[in-house]
Amino acid sequence: MKIKKVDTFILHAPVTRGGIADSLHSISHWGAPGVAIHADNGLIGYGFSGTHAHLPTDRLITDCICDSYGPLLLDKDPRETRGIWQLLHNNSPIMWVGRASIPHLALGAIDIALWDLKAKSADQPLWRLLGGSPKQVEAYNTDGGWLNWPLQQLLDDCKRLVEVNGYRAVKIKIGSDNPVDDLKRVEALRNTLGPNIRIMTDVNGRWNLAQALQYGGRLADFDITWIEEPLRFDDIDGHSRLAASISTPVALGEQLYSASDFRNFIQKHALHYVQPDVCRLAGITEWWQVAELAHAYGLPVVSHVGDMAQVHLHTAIAHPACSLLEYIPWLSNWMKYPVKPSDGYYEVPTEPGAGTEPTPEAFEAIGVKTR
Ligand code: MG
Repeated sequence: MKIKKVDTFILHAPVTRGGIADSLHSISHWGAPGVAIHADNGLIGYGFSGTHAHLPTDRLITDCICDSYGPLLLDKDPRETRGIWQLLHNNSPIMWVGRASIPHLALGAIDIALWDLKAKSADQPLWRLLGGSPKQVEAYNTDGGWLNWPLQQLLDDCKRLVEVNGYRAVKIKIGSDNPVDDLKRVEALRNTLGPNIRIMTDVNGRWNLAQALQYGGRLADFDITWIEEPLRFDDIDGHSRLAASISTPVALGEQLYSASDFRNFIQKHALHYVQPDVCRLAGITEWWQVAELAHAYGLPVVSHVGDMAQVHLHTAIAHPACSLLEYIPWLSNWMKYPVKPSDGYYEVPTEPGAGTEPTPEAFEAIGVKTR
């Protein structure tokens, strides 16, 4: 099997109720700049990144895929995922201008597409190709907990997710201008949901160490499962000091771009829950390295979904460090084989591939011209 053509695409999917916010960003759409890799046997593998749907930025990613990596992919056997990853990561001219950011996101999309193609050519779902057995992965829902929701709406949405949809864990965004307001929201949610539902909180890097010690320390009063990205993303020492000082576990990883970044945080005991993202890391190949590393340290891996549940579900089924996975619905319904949480657990996908193939309607309705 040989790669014959490399096409790119960009999808911009509307988010819940036209707009959501966390402590750093407000967005109306979720972006998926991606790649379709065509093999000479007619199979096509799809992979994409996750962005805030900013078209000039998305085009940087698709241009990088087309112009810098595309010529290196032609006539390669797409099943040789590791060799191709090494070639693009170590020997492409684009890596000279940055091992993180645009080239890394572009490489991630390509790697995902190659794994999709490899699984399709084996006529197996990706989780089986990765050595997994069918396994129940629990879904926790983030889509009721946005920072721009007024308190009553947040309480109503989270209550609905639990009572109607069967979730047993929800995450809410905190990190507002006044941390005391954050604690009031957390307390109100705990009182609404009762003691048996897990609640996660996500600061998205807004606090400094003093705030995190003071207000993060008080989250234990409400039995919070984790505090996510309490400090600026690259602050290893700060997270390490915080993790040693408060009893609520620390979760992070969605802003780390390489396996060596994870190694540095893990070695410093700066996190308790490891949250790699196949889009920010360079794809499934590097995600697997991170999961193995975390597993060796006995740390649970709960991938950051953004909105990339398809691949993360396959890797979660396959990897023993995973039993829980975030759910956000924006992109799923534009996929040919959407992930399906039911009563708080994901259904095990049975279709060949990584689940990353968009529907024809997606390209029609939410596709944006790449150039
Ligand atoms: Mg987060």
